[in-house]
Amino acid sequence: MLQPIKGTRDLLFDECRKHRHVERVASLVAGRYGFDEIETPILESAGLFLRGLGDTSDIVSKEMYRFTDAGGDDLVLRPEGTAGVARAFISEGLQQHLPLKLFYRGPMFRRERPQKGRYRQFYQFGIELLGVEKPQADLEVLACGYRILKELGVLGSVKLHLNTIGDHESRAAYREKLVQYLSGRKGELSKDSIDRLERNPLRILDSKDPGDIKVVADAPALKDSLTPAAREFFDAVVAGLEVMKIPYEVDPKLVRGLDYYCHTVFEYTTDALGAQNAVLAGGRYDGLIKDLGGPVTPGVGWAFGVDRLAHLLAAVPEKPRAVAIIPVGDGADAAAVEWAEKLRTAGFTVELGYSGNLAKRMKRADKIGAGAALILGPEELARGVVQIKELATGAQREVAFDQVIATVKTFNL
Ligand code: AMP
Repeated sequence: MLQPIKGTRDLLFDECRKHRHVERVASLVAGRYGFDEIETPILESAGLFLRGLGDTSDIVSKEMYRFTDAGGDDLVLRPEGTAGVARAFISEGLQQHLPLKLFYRGPMFRRERPQKGRYRQFYQFGIELLGVEKPQADLEVLACGYRILKELGVLGSVKLHLNTIGDHESRAAYREKLVQYLSGRKGELSKDSIDRLERNPLRILDSKDPGDIKVVADAPALKDSLTPAAREFFDAVVAGLEVMKIPYEVDPKLVRGLDYYCHTVFEYTTDALGAQNAVLAGGRYDGLIKDLGGPVTPGVGWAFGVDRLAHLLAAVPEKPRAVAIIPVGDGADAAAVEWAEKLRTAGFTVELGYSGNLAKRMKRADKIGAGAALILGPEELARGVVQIKELATGAQREVAFDQVIATVKTFNL
């Protein structure tokens, strides 16, 4: 039997409807915050992510779908969206459009171990605000995320964790203190963390290894190494959240490992999805575009997993109930097509049963959840009337052609 590739799946019916609903609400809200859509290619050069994510990140070192194509190009199926947006900013010379606010959505690919809420092809929606170095940008991005979660009705099952990783100077000072502390307890660290001690010690702070967690609990706090400017920046973000009444919790262990990240980092998590608790994650990345070879351009943004938010939705978005057209006898087929088009033109969802007798077609109308049936018999058609049945009540009546649309409008479809 043909099966989808492990970690990928076909989105059907309610699940597909939930995905579209999440994307639609997010696009509308992002639009209200002044973000325009960008669609970048799924295929990018491997070099973009090696430079953009750093070759020590899990994504680049273990999870990328990377291959050499028939022309010898080193390509990947994109594992995330920010690097592509930053690449487009440089390729398209978008500097003149700064400040620039963009949102994107689409499939991402990571070769992780599949489980509930974790797929190898999954979908992200993200926003990026480029060209503004003030904390107002962080606040706007945070507010937009909050508003989307609110409009999707999932605020009750998520929590915002917030931290600052300071500016370059704060981090350099902290890195030194941290390495000194961790080196003293090296024997208790996991192998991965020992590897990271030289290259990327901040990453050890969010290790999931129980031994590491114990060591990290007593580690010096980053906030004690913040420069006054970095502290002021974070205070402004926190004050803004208070003004907007956006609930948050400061989590000193929340970090981003790569050098181009700075200041604000945040993540919405949930308890409702088992091990996969991350819903939306983001932060400030003032050094990324420069690291990719572009002009110095500050940036802040986030991405959420559409799949995970779709899982969190309490209800499937309703779809309009259809009007079923039921011709009786072959002679009514042409009239059926004509009435279907008239009703669709008037904005109704119409299902045309394709075969079977009256009873069979009525049964199908019920099965698809139709709200009304238009029954077209040859004798009635000759008299200029049709039978309309409201399926919720079973009430049926004869209606003249020119009253059909008005009658269907009175139903709650
Ligand atoms: P990240 O780019 O790793 O910060 O991920 C941003 C968001 O994408 C996460 O918070 C998840 O909601 C979602 N996500 C990341 N990886 C996966 C995956 N393998 N399957 C489903 N959703 C994912």
